[in-house]
Amino acid sequence: MHSISHRDKQHIWHPYTPMKLWPEAIAITRGEGVFLTDEKGNQYIDAISSWWVNLHGHAHPYIAQKVSEQLHTLEHSIFAGFTHLPAVLLAERLLPLLPGKQEKIFYSDNGSTAVEVALKMAVQYWSNIDVPKKRIVALENAYHGDTVGAMSVSGRSPFNSNFTSWLFDVDFIPFPSVGNAEKSIAVLEYLLQSGDIAALIVEPLIQGSAGMYTYSAEVLDAYFKLCKKYNTLIIADEVMTGFGRTGKLFACEHIDTTPDIICLSKGITGGSMPFGATTTTQKIFDAFYDDDKQKMLYHGHSYTGNPLACTAALASLDLLLSPDCIHSIQRISSSHSSFVKKVQDKQQIRDIRQLGTILALELNTSDDTSYNNSLRDGIYQYFIERKILIRPLGNIIYILPPYCIQNEELEYIYENIISLLDSPLFK
Ligand code: PMP
Repeated sequence: MHSISHRDKQHIWHPYTPMKLWPEAIAITRGEGVFLTDEKGNQYIDAISSWWVNLHGHAHPYIAQKVSEQLHTLEHSIFAGFTHLPAVLLAERLLPLLPGKQEKIFYSDNGSTAVEVALKMAVQYWSNIDVPKKRIVALENAYHGDTVGAMSVSGRSPFNSNFTSWLFDVDFIPFPSVGNAEKSIAVLEYLLQSGDIAALIVEPLIQGSAGMYTYSAEVLDAYFKLCKKYNTLIIADEVMTGFGRTGKLFACEHIDTTPDIICLSKGITGGSMPFGATTTTQKIFDAFYDDDKQKMLYHGHSYTGNPLACTAALASLDLLLSPDCIHSIQRISSSHSSFVKKVQDKQQIRDIRQLGTILALELNTSDDTSYNNSLRDGIYQYFIERKILIRPLGNIIYILPPYCIQNEELEYIYENIISLLDSPLFK
């Protein structure tokens, strides 16, 4: 019998993978805690939480138990005209934890759909109340997902360059890097003055897929305040930052001004199930609450509100809010900070950025920083050989680990980063 990896190659088309250039996929047969084990018995440290989803470790017994019980009770039912307890419990539990007064939750099944729903909510809100605001403002280099609406509000990049003519027009403001913040805020204000902006969408405090680029809480606060001043809705895409990644439960908690709409996914189920949610305020919901059927939100997915996913999300919240987990988030954050101090002056590092449990190193190479940087595949392979799963964004390597990672595993990753810098890849 051929290996799973070999059989995979016959039929499976993988995401973000140049299928011709890429060797066989590694076949994972087991997950436990921070480790993924392949069919040959190799154990990899999942340093990126399997695309930023996993919070408490793989195959967590508590989540598995709760989901298994739910699976025997109600696996799924239509969510239009019907409801169930896990969906209600999750709404009751999650909404009060979110920044601002989030009163309503709309379920979907991934980060991109959470964003699509947010955009449709924002645009239709203005239409329902007969105010002609239609345009969306986003940040240059933003990433909000791979569906067409989510791609449209993402920066124009190799991710969407094959579809440019399909994407709707969006106003992009400059990324507020140090020295550029005032300009970015000024451009936002200029656009808002047109009176035509339905919403601003941002990844709060850190742009993930762009390369883990951070910006200050003061800038985020200035954006939000301007949107309030000019009566524009704020969509906070917390798909990556939600559920503790930045050191607070949600990135928007780093400031006092609050968003109108929040997009959630990834960590919402602790990484165990696909799920998405878009939350909003009573004011926005009320604009859809009407006798006129044309004012309802025409949106829904077959698996909307899936009871297994709601149950997984409730179980993950139990774990996330425990003192142990909160302590782990602090422990990982301070461990990263010590590592930053140790390596920040190394000449192979162009820039180093940290926000809570997220750490990114932009490496010096002869090429410009880019997703298709020539060093990327070599770095990925370097870590795989050392049994660490790190997926560089071009020449940017980052760690975004499950909170159950232990100090010795973090040290092992750091040591290997240092040895990478001294390796022939950089000669
Ligand atoms: N928004 C942000 C900020 C993201 O980081 C991502 C995924 N990396 C998405 C949306 C899209 O999520 P998904 O991959 O689940 O569609």
